[in-house]
Amino acid sequence: ISPTVIPGSKAGRLIVLTGPSGVGKGTLMQLLLQRHPQLYLSISVTTRSPRPGEIHGKHYYFASREEFRQMVDRGELLEWAEFAGNCYGTPRQPVAEKIGEGKTAILEIELEGARQIRASFPEVLRIFILPPSMEELEQRLRSRGQDSEEAIARRLRRAQAEINAAGEFDYKVINDNREAALQEIEAILFPDSRQD
Ligand code: 5GP
Repeated sequence: ISPTVIPGSKAGRLIVLTGPSGVGKGTLMQLLLQRHPQLYLSISVTTRSPRPGEIHGKHYYFASREEFRQMVDRGELLEWAEFAGNCYGTPRQPVAEKIGEGKTAILEIELEGARQIRASFPEVLRIFILPPSMEELEQRLRSRGQDSEEAIARRLRRAQAEINAAGEFDYKVINDNREAALQEIEAILFPDSRQD
């Protein structure tokens, strides 16, 4: 990213949040945003079909494979990866804009994307969210009731691979108790009661 840095102003921060599907990242992020509305949560583009209740432009920008490919070709994505048979990517422009305004931008993305960001933006702060156990993760994926058995199996295999890479991250937070996990994330983002 090359945000236009205004002289005298301070560039914002880029935060990456990664963790296996079903670990509860989305819920944690929604709660974090409610408490800290100054944070900017990037909205990804995906070729996955919307789940019931998901809104285009709010949870994701839903795109066809062709549209996604064009965005990749035009360099409009900061990173992108395939996950469980679909493509996911972060639109570059809004993130660059927010960071240029001195804001903190958060990307909730999977492991490959987190690695790409690390390579192109070494100052990034990366947090990995862990489940209390694999059994608990499987139960959470099932109870969501939104994915097929095949999709759940694929997500569980991918989850194990991601968890094995958790050591690459700056911080690891176990999402056992939601409130405790949230407070840990807040302590990472706002040491010394930093509020931006
Ligand atoms: P889901 O289909 O459950 O919404 O997301 C599947 C996985 O894709 C999750 O691990 C989520 O964090 C990840 N993901 C969502 N958006 C992006 C993105 O823009 N880039 C990458 N690399 N992963 C993403």
